[in-house]
Parts: sequence; structure tokens; C-alpha cells
Amino acid sequence: MSKAKVNNLKDINEWRGVLVVAEQRYGKILNVSYELLGEGRRIADKLETELSVIVLGNKIDEEIKGLQHYGADKVIYMEHELLENYTTDAYTKVIAEYINETKPETVFVGATAVGRDLAPRLAGRLGTGLTADCTGLDVDPTDRKMLQTRPAFGGNLMATIVCPNNRPQMSTVRPGVMQKSAYVEEATELVKIRPTLTGEDIIAKIVEVVKSDKEGVSLCDAEIIVAGGRGLGNEENFGLVKKLAETLGGTYAGSRAVIENGWADPDRQIGQTGTTVRPKVYIACGISGAIQHLAGMAESECIVAINKNPEAPIFQVAHFGLVGDATKIIPELISAIEEVKNQ
Ligand code: FAD
Repeated sequence: MSKAKVNNLKDINEWRGVLVVAEQRYGKILNVSYELLGEGRRIADKLETELSVIVLGNKIDEEIKGLQHYGADKVIYMEHELLENYTTDAYTKVIAEYINETKPETVFVGATAVGRDLAPRLAGRLGTGLTADCTGLDVDPTDRKMLQTRPAFGGNLMATIVCPNNRPQMSTVRPGVMQKSAYVEEATELVKIRPTLTGEDIIAKIVEVVKSDKEGVSLCDAEIIVAGGRGLGNEENFGLVKKLAETLGGTYAGSRAVIENGWADPDRQIGQTGTTVRPKVYIACGISGAIQHLAGMAESECIVAINKNPEAPIFQVAHFGLVGDATKIIPELISAIEEVKNQ
């Protein structure tokens, strides 16, 4: 706790404004940053306060221009050669110093691999609390307390958490959970700062950055997702899900049961401990609709469920339901779609 500045009840009223910590990787701003800006704008408007976004990097001026059009009142660009790639030490130092100086009451960080490392370190450095993996955010404008909702007790309960005595109130939100902010024609103010930083501030040195040669699956960006569950019975039948996804020009995914059975790679898992998605169309085949699965897909625009049990909970969130054997229905769907495509 030596570096922590513990705030107390007396000074929380000095903290005003909402700050989004945007993330860049290889110079590209991640989508989750725009999603946080959408939510940040809504919260800032409710509090009648300013929304700022901070991004750390090096020579990414062109990319920063994009951030100036997504609802923030101010874009803070911290430029330094030591900030080109993420390091816990440098990013924590620069952002914590900025926060201590400008005192935003609320800070949002994306729950990416980087955000999950950075946010707790920042919270520790600032002597405040952190609610990780929020699925819902709101604020009570009368007392300005953030209502941070997240699954608890294995996802069987939704807990709403407040941080009453310390500032800033910090939340992380996973990619795909919030709606992206809308494009605004007029560019907002840009403040470019060169922070004070030396190599000695960074204990862990980056020797080399090696990109994974495995192509990542971007479930978050998919417009059509066909997901399979244990109800498909075996890996061969799960192949029908892949075929239907391909026929529709979409992506396939699975419930945790599918991943545990080894029918699909872990990066295909949808749900509380997988990816959160909100595609235009989500087709759930042989998936019961456990709360942990619903946590990752219930916000999809159109949900189609195929399940042989008419009482399966998935039908409670589905817009269209097909009761029957998925291994028979999927091949029929594929032929019907191919027929339409051939016409
Ligand atoms: P089941 O629940 O076994 O459902 C199979 C369904 O298929 C049934 O509804 C059945 O009626 C139907 N069916 C059977 N045969 C057919 C057929 N021939 N045709 C059509 N339908 C058929 N799960 C996730 O998915 N994602 C997560 O991120 C996740 N995180 C978790 C985190 C925690 C802390 C915990 C405790 C659990 C988590 N789970 C997660 C697991 C979750 O609780 C469920 O166990 C899991 O989602 C069940 O997967 P499923 O629907 O494929 O299988």
C-alpha cells in the first residue's frame, strides 16, 4: 500500500467526470473502446458531466483521429516511445498520475487480457475498488454512485456493486457487452501529452513481441453465429453446426459443454466464461440455455433456438423456436437455404 493514495469520504465530491481507458494493439484502437464510449456517454449525460477518453501509444496520430468522433468531450493521447507496447508498469504509472491529477469519478476499462492486468493494478495504485466484468452499468444521479452489475456465485445471481467511499469508481466491461457509440461528424478536442517516463519506471522489459500464428476467431464481430450444444450428441453431429454457419456465411460457436467435449476450440465458447456476443442472428442448436450461456448471447438481435425439449430455458429468450431433433432439422435448413441461394 506504500504507493496507494487512499481517498476518504471528505474528498469524494472533488471527483467529477467519466474517463474511458481506450486500448490500442499494434496501433489499432480495439472495438471495446468504442463500446465503452457508448456507455460512458450515457452515464456522463445522466450525471451532466464530461466524458474523456485516454489512450497510450506511440506515433498513432491517424488512429487517434478516429476516437475524436465517438461521443467523448475530450481525447487525451499520451504519446511516448515507451508506451508503444503495453507494459503494466508504464501504463499504470501514466494513467494513475493522470487520474490523480484530473480526478474523474468513474473509470471504465475494457476487460481484455490487457485490461484485466491493468485495471486491478490501477485500482491498487489509486487506493480504490474495482468491479470486474460488469454486464450492466447505471448511475444514481442524486448520489452519483455507480451501480455496477455482474454475475456472482457462478452466474446464478446478478450482484449490483457500489463503491461508496472511494474514488474513482472503477469497472471493467468485456468486449461485446455494450453498444458501440454512434459516429459524430464533428471532431472533439484532442490533448496530446508527452508523459514523464524513463526505462527505469518499467521493471518487466519486453524482449520481443511474437504474434500468435493461430488465426484468432472474432466472434464479437460476427453478424451470424450458429452455436451448438451437448444436445448434438457427438463431434460428427457438431459438424452440422459448422456446415450451417458456412452456408449462412456466418461463424460457428459452442456452449461450454461442447468445448469440454473437445468438439470445438476454447475460443469458440459463448457465455459468462467465454465470449459475449450480440450478432444480428444467433442460432442455438441443442443448447439448453443455462444462465451462464445466456449471459453471453441474450442481447443478440434475433435468436433462433432448436431444441427437442419444449421446456428448455433457451426458448424464453428465443424470438423463433423449433422443437425437434437438431440433427434432423439442421440438414433440412441447409438444403432449404442452398435452394434459395441457387435460385
Ligand atoms: P445441456 O445443458 O446438457 O443441454 C443440452 C440441450 O440439448 C438440452 O436442452 C436438450 O433438451 C437438448 N437436446 C438433446 N438432444 C437434442 C437433439 N437431438 N436435438 C435438439 N436438442 C437436443 N456454459 C456456457 O455455455 N458458457 C459459459 O461461458 C459457461 N460458463 C460457466 C461458468 C460457471 C461458473 C459455471 C458453473 C458454468 C458455466 N457454464 C457455461 C456451464 C453451463 O452451466 C451449462 O452447463 C452449459 O451451458 C450446458 O451446455 P449445453 O446447453 O450445451 O448442454
